[in-house]
Amino acid sequence: MIANYGYRDGSGEYYVTIDTDLCIECEGRWCVEACPERLFEIARDDYDDEVATIVASARKLLKERCSGCKPAGGYGSLPCTTACEFGAISHSW
Ligand code: SF4
Ligand code: SF4
Repeated sequence: MIANYGYRDGSGEYYVTIDTDLCIECEGRWCVEACPERLFEIARDDYDDEVATIVASARKLLKERCSGCKPAGGYGSLPCTTACEFGAISHSW
């Protein structure tokens, strides 16, 4: 399943997308450790599979919470997308 977490406002769209089908086979769970803001957690989905999700309290704050990892924060690549060896994570901005 393609899961989108985030929101849009007057300045743009701020979504983190996770291809949770890829999480089912993932034993590394690299996203959880890689994110300096601890935005990822592993939870059971509607199909009872353990997949990555974005913590509920952060879903409406992604622009702010991810700002330190974006190019303006000095990063050339995002810790989460780099860590996920399955390429399951993408960002809309
Ligand atoms: S590292 Fe990637 S594949 Fe593994 S649980 Fe996290 S998002 Fe899913
Ligand atoms: S960009 Fe940074 S803060 Fe945002 S989800 Fe990825 S690792 Fe976490």
